[in-house]
Amino acid sequence: MRERVVIVGGGLAGLAAAAALAERGFAVTLLESRPRWGGRASSFVDQTTDEPIDNCQHVALGCCTNFLHFCRSVRIERFFHREQRLTFIGTDGAASTFSSAPLPAPFHLFPSFARLHFLSWHDKWRLAWGLRALARVDASTCQDESFLDWLNRHGQPPAVIERFWHVVLVSALSETLDRIDIGHARKVFVDSFLRNRRGWEVWLPTASLDLLYETVVEGWRASRAVTCRLQAGVETLIAERSDSQPAALVEPTAEPARDPAAAMPWSGWQVTGVQLRSGERIAAEHVIVAVPQFMAGDLLPAPLRSLPGIVDAARLQTAPISSVHLWFDRPITPLRHATFVGGLSQWLFNRSAIREGAANRAAANREVTTCYYQIVISASREVAARPQAETIRAVVAELAAIWPAAGEAQLVHSRLITEHTAVVSMLPGVDRWRSGQATPVAGLSFAGDWTQTGWPGTMEGAVRSGYLAAETVVRRYERCESLVQPDLPTALLPRWLLGL
Ligand SMILES: Cc1cc2nc3c(=O)[nH]c(=O)nc-3n(C[C@H](O)[C@H](O)[C@H](O)COP(=O)(O)OP(=O)(O)OC[C@H]3O[C@@H](n4cnc5c(N)ncnc54)[C@H](O)[C@@H]3O)c2cc1C
Repeated sequence: MRERVVIVGGGLAGLAAAAALAERGFAVTLLESRPRWGGRASSFVDQTTDEPIDNCQHVALGCCTNFLHFCRSVRIERFFHREQRLTFIGTDGAASTFSSAPLPAPFHLFPSFARLHFLSWHDKWRLAWGLRALARVDASTCQDESFLDWLNRHGQPPAVIERFWHVVLVSALSETLDRIDIGHARKVFVDSFLRNRRGWEVWLPTASLDLLYETVVEGWRASRAVTCRLQAGVETLIAERSDSQPAALVEPTAEPARDPAAAMPWSGWQVTGVQLRSGERIAAEHVIVAVPQFMAGDLLPAPLRSLPGIVDAARLQTAPISSVHLWFDRPITPLRHATFVGGLSQWLFNRSAIREGAANRAAANREVTTCYYQIVISASREVAARPQAETIRAVVAELAAIWPAAGEAQLVHSRLITEHTAVVSMLPGVDRWRSGQATPVAGLSFAGDWTQTGWPGTMEGAVRSGYLAAETVVRRYERCESLVQPDLPTALLPRWLLGL
């Protein structure tokens, strides 16, 4: 018999776990409660334009080695375009281009840094010292300090904080600097800018995300590698003690018993399957729970809800991300994407230009008469608190100040989407509250960007968690190497100069 594994949650973590286990011959069933795959990185059809749009533009970087490995292994890499040029636009509308020079890391981006028009030479000098100090810091010695305090302690001028550190980190970690862990801030700069020449390159999906997942799932259906079911919400996991009492029926006692086992009520339990909301039961030797942290506990039978990973997850906070979708009657800029320095808008993605020539079904089947742009605003608490029309007006006004065509063009359609619990906030010391993928309960593992991966809540973090969860399953039956892909290699100079 092939060992049966049920994966609850068809986001990237669940999809990655399924891919890794199917490849190793396990009988995998992937269950997703919603009518679409992809979880927080998904698409839906906009009723007005009748085209599939992503809930928000998702980008990966060259340092996302596991996400890119996943895309290769499920053959969707062709839906991505590697961008080797970024454009930073200041509040004055002037643009600075960012690209690799033919120099070894960590100097490959120095000429681009030197050209940033919105920082003075003094600022750039302080920034270089700040980057060097950050690369050398032992983050474990300042776990409870915020990154903003660290920057101030290291003499970073306000202009550098606002126009560089904030700009990079708010889009990478979706948080403000006073709410960011030093170790996670360090990781962003070391992995993307300093370690390897390819780390900072931006990978953009050229098709809507649903097309990517449909391609993956279709492949699995054709090869019968994974049983994939949408609208198959799990109600509860089924667990048994060695005396076979079904745990799904056990309610928590008001008064904890005084025997030592009360401190570990999960001890001796084993997960044996899941029960769907429809009442259907699916037996399995192993269940991977790959749902967001605030949903995981509700799926567990009562004795398992006090698992340390679940109790600690209640301490994780989240940050919102908003995306403003704009359809103009003409192009407003030929740029495929841009990063804004200062102001409300943070990134612009020219979706019409990005998908041009790509295998996008909707665009291929009809005449495109509008130009579609997406503006991303991370850590968007203020946006979430004010009327949508106000935000859309403010964003269009910002675009018009930079590109007059945006003021002249007719805005044919617009919408604003805010994901209120978009990602886990990488608060100082956050990693101590993130669960591992293995649990002390036989047959149960966790996956999801909220679990301990060394990465923040990103597509890379989600895929890593899926691979790590798959590893806990494989190791029950056989010796296995780590399924997690290595980071980009650290070049020689960053090793010598920065001790990386
Ligand atoms: C607006 C926004 C923008 C982002 N931008 C980026 C970006 O540019 N780059 C990047 O790397 N990351 C980005 N992220 C983060 C990235 O999307 C997430 O880190 C990643 O998708 C999380 O994947 P996951 O599988 O861990 O969780 P999820 O995507 O949340 O998947 C969990 C799945 O479980 C399902 N589920 C829940 N309960 C049940 C149940 N009872 N039964 C069955 N299924 C269930 C859910 O429906 C969901 O599909 C962004 C996130 C958001 C919200």
